[in-house]
Order: sequence, then C-alpha cells, then structure tokens
Amino acid sequence: MDDLSRFLADVHKEVLPETDGQVASYIPSLAQADPDPFGIALATVDGQLHTAGDSEISFSLQSISKPLTYALALMESGFEAVDAVVDVEPSGEAYNRISLENETGRPANALINAGAIASTSLLPSGGRMSRLLHFYGQLAGRRLHADAQIAMEELEGGHRNLAMAHLLHSFGKLADEPVQATRDYCAACATMVTTTDLAWIAATLANSGCHPGTGEQVIDPLVVQRLLSVMTMSGMYDEAGWWMVRVGLPGKSGVGGGIIAVAPGKLGLGVWSPRLNEHGSSVRGVRTCEIVSRELELHVMGSHRPPSEDGLSAPTAS
Ligand code: GLN
Repeated sequence: MDDLSRFLADVHKEVLPETDGQVASYIPSLAQADPDPFGIALATVDGQLHTAGDSEISFSLQSISKPLTYALALMESGFEAVDAVVDVEPSGEAYNRISLENETGRPANALINAGAIASTSLLPSGGRMSRLLHFYGQLAGRRLHADAQIAMEELEGGHRNLAMAHLLHSFGKLADEPVQATRDYCAACATMVTTTDLAWIAATLANSGCHPGTGEQVIDPLVVQRLLSVMTMSGMYDEAGWWMVRVGLPGKSGVGGGIIAVAPGKLGLGVWSPRLNEHGSSVRGVRTCEIVSRELELHVMGSHRPPSEDGLSAPTAS
C-alpha cells in the first residue's frame, strides 16, 4: 500500500467511530438509507487515485450537482446571461432558504436551491437532462444515470422548490416553465455517483477543468475559477465560514451524504457518509476533509507555505 492510501486508511479508522448526525428524512429513499457506510477517495491532478472504505457504493449526488450545472450554464449561456439571473454573493443561508434579492428577484448564488433552479432553467429544455448527465459523466470519467425513484420523490415532496421556481418566474428570472425547471433540477440531484466519482469530479476542478484520468478538457479554466470562487464562499451554505476556517478549500456538500473538496493544482477529495449535521452536510465528511486538509497542508490560506524565492514578479509587457 502506498503512503497516501495508508494515510486515507488511517483517517477512515479515526473518523469511523463518529456517529453523530441524522440521515436526510425529507424523502423516503434518503430516510431509509443505511446510515453507516463511509467512503473516502482522493484523486491527484497527475491521475493517481487512492481510496479507503466504501468508495464504490452508489448514492445520490444531490446538491453537489449545483456547481456542475452552474458550470455548464456558464459555458453554454455565457457569464453575462447567467449573472443576470443568479448573483455570486455569499448568502450564508440554509440551502432551501427562499433567497431572492428584494428588487431584482435574483438568488444570492447558484449553490442554494433557488439559484440552482435558475441556472438549470438556462439550459435549453429539449434534452436538458441527457446533456447534464453527459456533462457530469465527463467530469467523473464514466457514464452516469439518474435514479428515477429518487427524482420522482424529490419532485413530489418538492413544494418549496416548486414555490421558489414560481417566484423566480414571477420576477422574470426563470428561463423555462417552473415545473419543468424544478423537475430537471430534481433529476439532476438524483444522479447516482460513488465516492470515487466525487474524487475525479473534484480533481477535474483542481486541474483547471481537465480530467486527470481521461485527459479531456471538460470545463473552460475561467469557468472553473468562477466556480471555485463561488464554492469557497457559498458551497457549505450557512456553515461556509467554519468550513473555510477549518478546511480552507472550495467545497460542496449534498444531503445524500457526499462532499467534494478541491485543492487547486493539487488534488480532489470525495467523501461520503449519510449522517448529516444541522446544515445538511455529512458529519464524517466534514471531519475527514478537515483532517486531510490539515495533514496534507492544503488550506488555501495556509501559513505553512514558504515565501517564494524571487518574490512577486510583474508580468512582462508584450
Ligand atoms: N434535493 C435537495 C433539495 O433540493 C438537495 C439539497 C442538498 O443537497 N443540500 O432540497
């Protein structure tokens, strides 16, 4: 076993006894989920994969779909069109907060539900789900599918999401009809992934949008920069501050128990365990990200970094 795999096995062992938190209960499929599995996967930008625990069990992507959908909307509709309907401000709000700017009706960012529904609506409605699944699959490096039962339960119980879609529509911030936009948002949340998929998705973001395994340039580097900025400020909702202080990496959680954390230029980390804290993030997942970031010195504001030898050099004039 190599050093990183041994390290992940040790972290898994350390975090496993943590059984705080509750599985999501708003739909039957999540409420009935086994709370115990725990997977960790780490993929480096040079294409190495290291795993520990239950890294090959499938679960629903949930809100980790939001930054990915946002990226696709930015690439297909352009920054200006997307910015007109979704802002980039750190809301510090719960994921399902009815967050619409007073005067314009714009959601604060694309990572809370209102903003995610708005960015979903920007993608052309014909073939939207197959386009999204194809894109998520390019990021993971394999074909993915959405679970029909979970998608249906999400929509049937999704009164608040439907209400937000209607509100967005009333403000002219929805590019599609509200029920269809919500249905596709729910189906995107129901995309099934493994912890290993999460690591590759995160590593693709760490590698400026180029999948380190397949070599495919999936996302424009400028879109990745935007995405990681928004994830840093808002990926963890009303726990974004503590997440940034403790982990110090752009991250995103989902109520299926998955979390991605991105160390730009270095690696992507995926963690999954279904018991959630009060903010809807995996308890073991947050703890794991904290330990991995600390031990591998990944915090983007880290004081561990030696000063560069030649200091700050100005760009050469062309
Ligand atoms: N499907 C969930 C919802 O829309 C996603 C929330 C989450 O993962 N934070 O409520």
